[in-house]
Amino acid sequence: MESNAPESFDQMHLSRIMLAALAKAGYEKPSPIQAALIPKALEGYDVIGQARTGTGKTASFAIPILEQLDPLSQQTLPQALVLVPTRELATQVHGEFEKLAYGCPTSIVAICGGRRMDEQIRKLRQGAQVVVGTPGRVLDLVERRELRLGSLWCVVLDEADRMLDIGFRPDIERILRRCPETRQTLFLSATLAGETQTLADRYLFEPERIDCSRKEISVETIEQRYLAVEPRDKLAVLVKLLEREQPPQAIIFCRTKLGTAKLHRKLEQELSRFPAMRGVGLETIHGNMSQSQRDRVFQRLREGKIRLLVATDVVGRGIDVSTISHIINFDIPQDCDDYVHRVGRTGRMGREGIAFTFVARDEGNRLSEIEWRINRQLQRDPLTPSNDRPLVTPRVSEMVPVAVAPESWPATQLLGGDQEGAQDQQEAPRKRLFRSRRSLSSKQKRQPPPSP
Ligand code: AMP
Repeated sequence: MESNAPESFDQMHLSRIMLAALAKAGYEKPSPIQAALIPKALEGYDVIGQARTGTGKTASFAIPILEQLDPLSQQTLPQALVLVPTRELATQVHGEFEKLAYGCPTSIVAICGGRRMDEQIRKLRQGAQVVVGTPGRVLDLVERRELRLGSLWCVVLDEADRMLDIGFRPDIERILRRCPETRQTLFLSATLAGETQTLADRYLFEPERIDCSRKEISVETIEQRYLAVEPRDKLAVLVKLLEREQPPQAIIFCRTKLGTAKLHRKLEQELSRFPAMRGVGLETIHGNMSQSQRDRVFQRLREGKIRLLVATDVVGRGIDVSTISHIINFDIPQDCDDYVHRVGRTGRMGREGIAFTFVARDEGNRLSEIEWRINRQLQRDPLTPSNDRPLVTPRVSEMVPVAVAPESWPATQLLGGDQEGAQDQQEAPRKRLFRSRRSLSSKQKRQPPPSP
């Protein structure tokens, strides 16, 4: 965060109505990404913000957008578009916008697959100031001419790295090519390398770069441990761990949909044998479930009715419940970024959290990669049943100390782009000649509705 970053929302020259909404939401001071991003976004810059969920990144783009919206009476076409990777995240981002628009009626429409399109079309026809959606459905509605992009002055790519992981790159590019060249683009991503960097290079105009990832990746408040467990012992160790920890609320991550459903079934049988764990709310969530089933699970999780949730990465990533106390990686994540995202489900907004990762004997190198990525060594949990058996592929940290991890490279090097990026940049279609700067005085337009 820059040293001159504002320490309070009051210093950001926000409208009175926004300050009231922030107070109502209980946001006392800006998080680091908010302190860095909000002023830049209000100045009209394109921004690349490196931050994961749980850091307040949604409000960091929602606040400047809401502050600068023209009233619906003046502009019925969408002014801001937020692209997100999952339906769950679309719902969350929509909720955050609604929360921050408190006191100033604003039309925010969520459009994503798995929900009724006719309903979404109806809302768009009524007039939307902000549209939050997944790339597939957004593109579909654009092609049906139900969603018009010509009046957008701001486009947000939220969790850009995840959208690319899911394979949304062609859709995103198609959408961006149809947006006005003069728009502002805010690009949020937990990681920035390869394809993600290339996309940013191609579609952002002289962006300001904000890197809040390093501080947040090895979040101080999240204790992270590993257990060396052979596949056949995993279930038994999991049950012991749950008995010992008695987690107030835990997510147990598996690699596949099938594995998730299977573990859920087995865990149900196992837990019924332990008096202390009997009757805990145990549920599962994965990609084979319908949207309404998933929504119900999220709702119950938020209400605290679910204590143990068995989940897959894609779905689990959208979970934003600040009371999650435990993350258990029943299957070690395939990818270091997935680890960061899974663990980031706990320790939200500075609360305490703990994460356990099960590592089989031949998965030591994967554990090392994670440790290099987060620049931190995971502690071995004493519950490890195979204490006497070392990992077959030893962790790098058992051979050399964790010293200079990629995250400790200078930010300029990290953000510098690679060969591939440089090549793509030459072909970049973007030749923006001027930047659209929303006048700061536009925030004065944000007035509470006239009293009846
Ligand atoms: P996000 O990173 O956007 O997923 O936000 C994580 C959680 O933090 C959400 O539940 C937000 O409502 C909450 N939040 C965002 N900004 C603040 C803030 N400045 N103070 C307290 N909570 C916040």
